[in-house]
Amino acid sequence: MTPYDASPAQAVSTTPRMIDGFGRAVTYLRVSVTDRCDLRCTYCMAEHMTFLPKAEVLTLEELDRLASTFVGLGVRKLRLTGGEPLVRKGFMGLVENLSRHLRAGTLDELTLTTNGTQLAAHAADLARLGVRRINVSLDTLKPDLFRRLTRGGDLAKVLAGIDAALAAGIRVKVNAVALKADNAAELPELIQWAHGLGADVTLIETMPLGEVDVDRTDQFLSLKDVRRDLSSFWTLSELAYATGGPARYVKVEETGGRLGFITPLSHNFCEACNRVRLTCTGTLHTCLGREDASDLRAVMRGGATDAELTAAIFRAIGAKPQGHDFHIGEARPAVVRHMSTTGG
Ligand code: SAM
Ligand code: SF4
Repeated sequence: MTPYDASPAQAVSTTPRMIDGFGRAVTYLRVSVTDRCDLRCTYCMAEHMTFLPKAEVLTLEELDRLASTFVGLGVRKLRLTGGEPLVRKGFMGLVENLSRHLRAGTLDELTLTTNGTQLAAHAADLARLGVRRINVSLDTLKPDLFRRLTRGGDLAKVLAGIDAALAAGIRVKVNAVALKADNAAELPELIQWAHGLGADVTLIETMPLGEVDVDRTDQFLSLKDVRRDLSSFWTLSELAYATGGPARYVKVEETGGRLGFITPLSHNFCEACNRVRLTCTGTLHTCLGREDASDLRAVMRGGATDAELTAAIFRAIGAKPQGHDFHIGEARPAVVRHMSTTGG
């Protein structure tokens, strides 16, 4: 019998491990704690976004309950994201509560993806609570371009945030979206700068998620081309390092740093997929590129017991699709939800 056949009570008492229909163990959960953000990156959001009414967003207690249930079912890595996680009121309290799983040894890693604007104020506390690594999204080191790409952001704040994280002993990975018209020429400098700080870099291809105001086919830059260009002046050595995610890594011999390429459009990364995503409204997406969704908020707010909640999670995991389905050439996004809702 698989866990999906079990009644709710049995699902709890049998081995609490989430294995999907293709034999992949789900050990990594990303949780979006808010859809709001203090920036408006052009590839992520429209300039005038309508954010969700408060009542639709999970409370901090609901977020804790759901994330903790997943930890109880075998999730070893938890990434908090958004929107911008650090703009959520009470966010540090959530981190503090979730850090109990690190101390208990039931969670290996508690981490976040942030735009870094508020990191300077929180880095020391994050480190104290057991956050060892953090992803900071940064596409350019030019203040004017940063302001334009983020529609008003202040680069100095992000740089101060990165400094504070490093000073607190947190490892930083810089995530940069590769944009043909905007930062393509600057990528080598950005990589060199980050590697100089001891930070890894991951380059991301733009993904067709959600309606934004710009034409994404204009911004799309194939990382195959970026890699070829970088190889003309750097030695890129393949690394076996894998995260179960879509990134492939190389070592840049000249800088000594690690460089990842997330190419969801040109490669199939689904075979080893170990992750699922929870939106801030409690919707579980078991595949980034598909519309599949399970409403765990309705289950919780309907008064579900822990066993019933677990059964709903097992049902969703059992239906995790084999792979994604992106097409950048299409006029409309392949998936209508924004990255800021799914959490990236
Ligand atoms: N606000 C935080 C941040 O920017 O790091 C966390 C949420 S953000 C949605 C997570 C990641 O998604 C960021 O690295 C961002 O660059 C990336 N992202 C957003 N929209 C994207 C898109 N359409 N294609 C590719 N990456 C995208
Ligand atoms: Fe905000 Fe992150 Fe989206 Fe930029 S990428 S608008 S920082 S959620």
